Parts: sequence; structure tokens; C-alpha cells
Amino acid sequence: MSSPDIIIIGSGMGGATLAYALAPTGASILILDKGEQLAHRPENRDARAIFQKGFFRPKENWYDSKGMPFNPGNYYVHGGNSKFYGAVLARYRAEDFDGIAHADGDAPAWPFRYGELAPWYDQAERLFKVRGSLGEDPTEPPHGHGYDFPPVPDERPIAEVRERLRKIGLHPFSLPLGVDIEQWLSHGKQPWDAFPDARTGKMDAETCALLPALAYENVRIESGAEVRRLVTAADGKRIEAVEYIQGGETRQASAKLVLLAAGAVRSAAILLASSPQGVANRSGMVGRHFMNHNLTAMLAADRRFTNDAVYQKTFGINDFYLGDGQGGPPLGNVQLLGRVSGTILKSDLKWAPQFALDALSRHTIDFLIMTEDLPDPASRVRLDGDRIVLEWRRTNMTAHKRLKKRMRAALNQAGFPLVLTHLFDRKTPSHQCGTIRIGSDPVTAPLDPYGRAFDHPNLFVSDASGLVTSAAVNPSLTVAALALRTAAHIRQTELTQP
Ligand SMILES: Cc1cc2nc3c(=O)[nH]c(=O)nc-3n(C[C@H](O)[C@H](O)[C@H](O)COP(=O)(O)OP(=O)(O)OC[C@H]3O[C@@H](n4cnc5c(N)ncnc54)[C@H](O)[C@@H]3O)c2cc1C
Repeated sequence: MSSPDIIIIGSGMGGATLAYALAPTGASILILDKGEQLAHRPENRDARAIFQKGFFRPKENWYDSKGMPFNPGNYYVHGGNSKFYGAVLARYRAEDFDGIAHADGDAPAWPFRYGELAPWYDQAERLFKVRGSLGEDPTEPPHGHGYDFPPVPDERPIAEVRERLRKIGLHPFSLPLGVDIEQWLSHGKQPWDAFPDARTGKMDAETCALLPALAYENVRIESGAEVRRLVTAADGKRIEAVEYIQGGETRQASAKLVLLAAGAVRSAAILLASSPQGVANRSGMVGRHFMNHNLTAMLAADRRFTNDAVYQKTFGINDFYLGDGQGGPPLGNVQLLGRVSGTILKSDLKWAPQFALDALSRHTIDFLIMTEDLPDPASRVRLDGDRIVLEWRRTNMTAHKRLKKRMRAALNQAGFPLVLTHLFDRKTPSHQCGTIRIGSDPVTAPLDPYGRAFDHPNLFVSDASGLVTSAAVNPSLTVAALALRTAAHIRQTELTQP
């Protein structure tokens, strides 16, 4: 049995960032990941393979509350879901930490305010080489410094739409992005959103955090190592071992510290599989409060507008983030999607002829409408034997419908007479979070505000599971900022002792 100082389970946004921040301490670190390193292959840049054939989708099913199987877009590779991400690296708004009253209920306050996380956001933006521009977004929270790189430029048709939206009184802002656009395009003219990146320009968990961590002699990764459960010592307190399957064999490793970062669904599943009540589950909250954002793709068409953009995803709109603009409660965020080609449209509209979808796509611009999903204990991940059951109960759809209505009206006013929408469902758990939340009270949260399990002093969870609320912001930068803060806490409290 191998016995490093620290075991990190998962090398995605949370796990890789922990490894990066702990590597310089000299502690021996073993990372266990279910996936392998993503290989260079033609399918990485092939929209048909990715969207129509599901080439990269995992060969697994999760189940809904009625026992119906579905194939989730949850990716197991070094770097985790960030290898496929749209690389929008945004901060939660300061108000998100204070608690927000929404149309259909309240988003609770975090155990700390924005100011506590702000310096870690500063560091995370440096680490992920975020490109952006301060001062354009009316809801922007205070930053310790500006972005180190200028924003990814709008392509011609996108600049035209940004201007049209400005003219009707909105405030489009440059999205904070982790992508080196020249490098990305030098490997092929495709958008990056949902396209996997074999180290060709995305700033993701593998390229910015995992690979620098692995450059240290004291850090190593085991691939194809699927963690099944954590083994607790006889006292019920210490996590004594991590059990995993690799190459068909069951193995164990033990360490002074175990850092769980397998993503919000998988981390909860590991804890629930580890004992009849679930490990770290005195509160009974492990697996509960699953959130995933309400997301709608909105395509706006104008036959006089020609969209020959390649990547498109450069601006967002937060005019309705803190309120609906008419004195009502918050609605959410709008941001461009990666360019939706006819080939991508075909994955949902299988009956439609390709030429018609290509023709439609030439005249559309594609947005993502994103509203907050509120934490509800009945919205949960649970196990049925070995099966993962995802009982997602969407919340706050009033805000979502209102935001769609506001944006539809705005796009009509900006000269797009036709607006089409598509609501994403449970098969797209890309913004999964909240299932092992942090909090100040062990009765209502499994983790303390640094991500340490209240029940097990040598167990931390640091991935999207810990998020108290989903806000209406892409989650990765917050996951990374929390991981940097957790790593600093571990350095102070665990690694200074003889
Ligand atoms: C298509 C797509 C687009 C997205 N776009 C954005 C975006 O623009 N901006 C943004 O902020 N976020 C985006 N996201 C979400 C973002 O990728 C996630 O929020 C982020 O990666 C979550 O980090 P994490 O550490 O919780 O989990 P992950 O990054 O998913 O990492 C989990 C890791 O654990 C490993 N693992 C899982 N189970 C096990 C197990 N049993 N044993 C061992 N290892 C295991 C996985 O292989 C993986 O490496 C997107 C996601 C997708 C899929």
C-alpha cells in the first residue's frame, strides 16, 4: 500500500489547484484520477464527433428519480471538466456572498463575505492567465489588480452585435476568459466551448495547475484510478485509507491528509459509498443541495446579419444580474456561447436537413441565458446500490423565464426578429455544485469554511461540491479560489508541524 503525505482524489479544477499550491511544500502528494491524459486526436476539433456522436462522453449512465438512465456530460480526464469548458473565469459578485432574495426563494449567505475570497480570486486569475478588462461590467466586484492580458477580441460580426446592444442601452462587457486565442486557432479554426483541449491554448486545470505541480519530484499522478470509497479508522474519525480500482484490481493508499476533489456528483457519491450513513455526513447533508444553473441556449436570427465568426464567445451582459431593471428581483447573466454551427444544431435537430441548419446558422448569434439554481435539500445525489441517482429539482424558474423574456425583447429591439431557445436538462450537469457544502454549523453543513470535514480532521473536500450557492456565474474560478485558500490553510495548520 502506498503512503504519501497527501492523497488528492481528482485532478480537475479543485484537485489540480490544490496540487499546484501544495507542491512547493515538499510534501509527497499522490493524485488519483479516474481518467487519463487527453490525447491529441482529430476528434478534439471535430464538431460532428463531439456533438453528434458523443465521442468523448463517458460510457456510463446516471439515473433520474424514476429510475430512467441518462448519459451525463461529465468528463473523466486529467483536468476534469475544465478540459471541455468555455473558459469563462468569472468571480461571483460581492452580493452573492451576502444572500439574495430571488423571485422563487432566497439564496443563503456564505459563511464569509466577498472580501475574504477576493485575494484568492486575484491569485486564481493570475494562475489561469485570465484575459479581460475591468470597468465594463456594472456588477463587477472590487479586484486587487487588473487582468494581466487584454480581452480576447470580438470578431467582426460579434463587434457589430455588441454595438447594436449598446445602442439599446445595455452594457455588454468582455468576458474574462482563460484562452490563448492565437495558440488555440493555430491548431484549427473552431470555437473552444465544449471542445476538448489537448494542451492547445486553453488555460485549464491541467495546463495551468496540474502540469506545473507534476514538475515537482514530490508529486505524482495515478491514471485510470477510480476511487470507490474512503475507509475510516476504528475511532470513526481518521480517514485511514482510500480504496480505488485500477486495471481491474482493488488497491488502497493511505496518507496523513485526504483531499477529495472528484466533482460535485462524484465526490458526494464517494462519501455516500463509504459507510451506510455516508462519511462526513453527521449533518445528513452529503449529496443534498445539488445545483446546476438553469441554462437556455438562445439563438437570435436576422437574415440581414451574417455570422462568419469562428469562436464568438467574447462578451456577456449583467444588466439584469442584481435586479430586473424595473425594481424587481435578480434575473441572471447572459453570455455568448461558442459559435453554434449547423453541425452542432444537428445534434438536437436530427430531423432537419443539414443544409437548412447551415443556412440558419449563418444568420444567428448564439447566447447562453444563465440563472441561479437555489440550494434545496430535496435536490440531491444519492446511491441505489452502485448506481448514481441524480434527483435534480430545478428552482427559481420564474427568474429564468423572465430573463428569457427580457433578452428576447432586447434582441428583437436590436434587430433580430426571430429568437429560438433550448433549455438544457440533466444530461448537461456542467455547472454541478453544492452537494457537500461548507458552513459554520456542523448540523447543517458537512464542511467547515475551509473545506475540512467537521467529522474527520484529516479530510478536506475542495471542488464544486463546497459551493454554498450557485449564483449565476460560471463556477470554475470560485472553485480555484476556494482551493487556493484551502491549500494555504492546510499549509498553516498541517504542514508546519514536525
Ligand atoms: C462543456 C462544459 C463547459 C463549461 N464551461 C465553463 C465555463 O466557461 N466556465 C466555468 O467556470 N465553468 C465551466 N464549466 C464547468 C467547469 O468545468 C466545472 O465547474 C469545474 O471543472 C468543476 O471543478 P471540480 O474540481 O469540481 O470538478 P472537475 O473539474 O470535473 O474535476 C473532477 C476530477 O475528478 C476525477 N474523478 C471523478 N470521479 C473520480 C473517482 N471516483 N476517482 C478518481 N477520480 C475521479 C475526474 O476525472 C476529474 O479529473 C463547463 C463544463 C463543461 C462540461
